[in-house]
Amino acid sequence: MASYQFNVVGYIQSPYKQKFAIPRQPGLIPEATGYLVLEDDYSDDTILRGIDCFSHLWLLFVFHETADKGWSPMVRPPRLGGNTRKGVFATRATFRPNPIGLSVVKLEGVERSNGKLMLKLSGIDLLDGTPVVDIKPYLPYSDALPHAAGGFADAAPQTAMTVSFSDAASTFCRQQSQYPDLQVFIEKVLKQDPRPSYKKQREGEQSYGMTLYNYNIKWTVNGEHNHVTEIHQLPE
Ligand code: SAH
Repeated sequence: MASYQFNVVGYIQSPYKQKFAIPRQPGLIPEATGYLVLEDDYSDDTILRGIDCFSHLWLLFVFHETADKGWSPMVRPPRLGGNTRKGVFATRATFRPNPIGLSVVKLEGVERSNGKLMLKLSGIDLLDGTPVVDIKPYLPYSDALPHAAGGFADAAPQTAMTVSFSDAASTFCRQQSQYPDLQVFIEKVLKQDPRPSYKKQREGEQSYGMTLYNYNIKWTVNGEHNHVTEIHQLPE
């Protein structure tokens, strides 16, 4: 069997520090901003010439967090409640023969900082530290197919979940200035109900925690309601 080796062109800096709570696809939470920091071998200014004319980019990346877990021909997409099996090539599951991911992201700008060449991105669905193997411009005339059939994932997932914040949590969001959209971002992450399917069936109040950017966020879930109780900043 032929095999090919690829070089990592850059690594993602993402607000998502763990797989839990990452949306299923890019674009679902536009407030999720991050960077693709290019490796030094791909940091010549000329390498991005013309890219600023594109609003969106395709990223091809490695599912590095799950890459060593192997794959199987059938998977249970979370979209189907985790009970129905589909062929791996009929899904966007991370456990694939080659652990390669594909995401379309919004290009917010190109920056250079401390000698590093970086693409500022939004709407990402990528884990912090994700290795990227290629970047290609999104071409609407060919890539946008509004009438294509979306199979078992024909529309963006919807939930009935609501979200509220304690006074302390909303004051925290207002008082930090680094991420003006922090509260909306947290709200959208929780509205998608990141809990694993089996926990969604449970009765009574459940407590959860996650890290977004450098913030630790704690919340409770009761029925279809999320309540953010505390947020605190983690050391850099
Ligand atoms: N848009 C991509 C990802 C779809 S799977 C594609 O279609 O190929 C979505 C899941 O990928 C997310 O829920 C997240 O948990 C997972 N993910 C994101 N970055 C990852 C990484 N570096 N390693 C493993 N899983 C990752």
